[in-house]
Amino acid sequence: MDRFCPKCGAKGKNFIKNLCEKCFWEEKVSHIPNNLRVYLCRSCLSYLQGKRWIRIKKKDPSLAAIEGAIKEFQRNTKIPNDTKILKIECNTAEWNKSGLPKKMILDITFASEGASTSLKREASVEYATCNFCQSVADGKYEALVQIRGDEGQLSEEKRKTLESSIDKFYRTALKDRSDITEIKEKDGGIDIKFLTSSKARLFAKKLSEIMGADLKESAKLVGADRMTGKRHYRITISVKLPALEPGDIVSFKDRIFKVLGHHRGKLILEDMEDHKRRSIPQNVISDVAKIDKADIKRVTIGTRSQNSITILDLEEKRFLELPAEKISNELKEGDEGLLINLNGKEKVVRRQ
Ligand SMILES: [Zn+2]
Ligand SMILES: [Zn+2]
Repeated sequence: MDRFCPKCGAKGKNFIKNLCEKCFWEEKVSHIPNNLRVYLCRSCLSYLQGKRWIRIKKKDPSLAAIEGAIKEFQRNTKIPNDTKILKIECNTAEWNKSGLPKKMILDITFASEGASTSLKREASVEYATCNFCQSVADGKYEALVQIRGDEGQLSEEKRKTLESSIDKFYRTALKDRSDITEIKEKDGGIDIKFLTSSKARLFAKKLSEIMGADLKESAKLVGADRMTGKRHYRITISVKLPALEPGDIVSFKDRIFKVLGHHRGKLILEDMEDHKRRSIPQNVISDVAKIDKADIKRVTIGTRSQNSITILDLEEKRFLELPAEKISNELKEGDEGLLINLNGKEKVVRRQ
C-alpha cells in the first residue's frame, strides 16, 4: 500500500517524519503572522520595536524599513525548537506618494529535519514621530551644558576648535549624538541641550577630562506631575574651560614650562630647560601661573665672553649682557631664545 499523509491523505509525496512535506511545514510555520506593521519616524527614520525607538546608522528609508521589518518579524515569530531560520531577505514592494517604503516583502528560509522551505510575509510601513523628535519639536530638554571660557567668553579660535572637536566628544562620550537636541552659540560660549541629564553629565565629564574644564551643576524645579506629585528638575552644567592652553608659557615652582595640554584632568607641562614632562594634578593647577606676554622677549644668542653672554633683543633691537648661568646650556651662538622675566629673575630658554 502506498504511504499516505495521516493529516491530508495525500499519497505519492515526499514525507518528512510522518507527514507530507506540505503538512509538515504547515505545522511548523503556518502560524507565523502575516501583515506585520513597521513604524518609522518620519523625521529621523528610527523604527519602533515594542516600546522603544531604535536609531539607525545610515539614514536611508529603505534600509530603515528593511531593518525594522526584519526585527519586527523576529520579535513576533515563535518557531518550534527543531526549526531554524536560515535566511531572511527583505525588499520594498511598494512605495507611497512621497517615495517612502509602504509595503515590504519578507522571504524567510526555514530548516528542519534536514529539509528546508521558504515563506513570504508582508509588512506594511506606517509613519509616526518618535519620542526624541517629538521632544525636540516641543523644545523639551532635561539638561543644559554651558561651555564658557575662563573669563566668560571663549575666544573665536577656541570656539572653533571646540566646535570641531565636539563631534569627537559625542563619539567618545555618547557613542552618538542622539541625545542632543540643540547646539548654539550663546554669550560667546556654546550651549548644548540634552534630552536626559545622564547623557549631559557623561558628556561634561568627558569634556572635563580631555580639556581640563571645571564643572558646576545646578538644578531648577520646572514643575511637578499633577497625578504623581513627582517633581521635574532641569539641570544646568557649567563647563568652564581652563585659562591655560597648549603653547602657553607658565611658571610653576620657580621654573618655566610650556603647556602641552590636558589629560584626564591633569595639566601636562614641559620644562623649557630640561624638556622633562610633568603632569600637574587638579589640586595644584592653581599654582601654575601664566607668564605675562610683556615678560617674554624674543632674543638671539650672541658671543660668549668669560662669564657673560651677549644677547640681542629682537623686539627692541638692542644688545644685552647677561651672566652665563642665566642662559640655558643648550643654547649656542646664533640660536633663538626667549628672555623671560620670572618674578624679577631673568632666564633665557630655547624658543620652541
Ligand atoms: Zn499532508
Ligand atoms: Zn525621530
